[in-house]
Amino acid sequence: MRIDLHTHSSASDGTQSPAQVVGSAVDVGLDVLALTDHDTTSGWAEAAAAAAQHGIALVRGIEISCQHEGVSVHLLGYLQDPTAPALLQELDRSRQSRQNRAQRIVELLSKDVPLRWEDVLAQIGPGATIGRPHIADAMVAKGIVASRDAAFARYLADGSPYYASHYAPDPVRAVALVREAGGVAVMAHPFASIRGRIVPDHVIEAMAAAGMAGLEVHHRDHSPDQVSHGLDLSASLGLFVTGSSDYHGAGKANLLGENSTDPAVLERIEDLASGVGMLRP
Ligand code: AMP
Ligand code: FE
Ligand code: FE
Ligand code: ZN
Repeated sequence: MRIDLHTHSSASDGTQSPAQVVGSAVDVGLDVLALTDHDTTSGWAEAAAAAAQHGIALVRGIEISCQHEGVSVHLLGYLQDPTAPALLQELDRSRQSRQNRAQRIVELLSKDVPLRWEDVLAQIGPGATIGRPHIADAMVAKGIVASRDAAFARYLADGSPYYASHYAPDPVRAVALVREAGGVAVMAHPFASIRGRIVPDHVIEAMAAAGMAGLEVHHRDHSPDQVSHGLDLSASLGLFVTGSSDYHGAGKANLLGENSTDPAVLERIEDLASGVGMLRP
């Protein structure tokens, strides 16, 4: 069984529609796919219809942007009730703040490069969570840079003078909200220091104490040392381990199924969840 529990569609910063992500998962021979768009579940219905049509199992999920003392933390939620009010309210607040923050970044950029807000709007699908990748795509479309990667390297990285942050909940609170919604919380790429600052292990311990169930240890942004530390920490905290691609379509080099999760772990996720069920073909 091949199981990939972390992917993005055009409902956030992936380049494929939810149905196309499902189609690509079938093409590469995956048996189970999770759709985990940033701060939204707006891709679930389309992905569910495509999964039923293509005969692949779908785990409906989300990747929640969080922040601890200014450091970005990503929390995966699986099989949570998408209508749970407290979580919904928090996600709405984040998405709203992302909108203002993206405008702020474009304002800063527009002093130095020929980029307007309308150029960015042209890159965002209806109902999608806006992120820096959409600004990157607009810069590519305008011929300012050659790729998303180049846009991040030169203009959009965390420490850049053009950077602005957005509201995001504390990760311990986000774990509690996912649990309250009947979902299963797993920290995404916990040690990915190549992306920017990471939180110390005591924050991960606090998330585990709040009911987080697993760590995404096998991820391309982790070095071999980070993977082995993740395996040790998971064992000592009683967390399960997942591996995923963090696929973004053509937006990143990550390939569907490049890391995968053990079927026994998927069973635990299903056992722990009480929000919505996994969709089976
Ligand atoms: P944001 O959610 O707006 O803070 O932007 C973070 C997102 O940007 C991540 O989820 C990644 O998908 C994407 N990202 C970060 N670094 C890069 C990069 N070097 N190249 C392409 N995409 C990136
Ligand atoms: Fe992303
Ligand atoms: Fe992430
Ligand atoms: Zn992701």
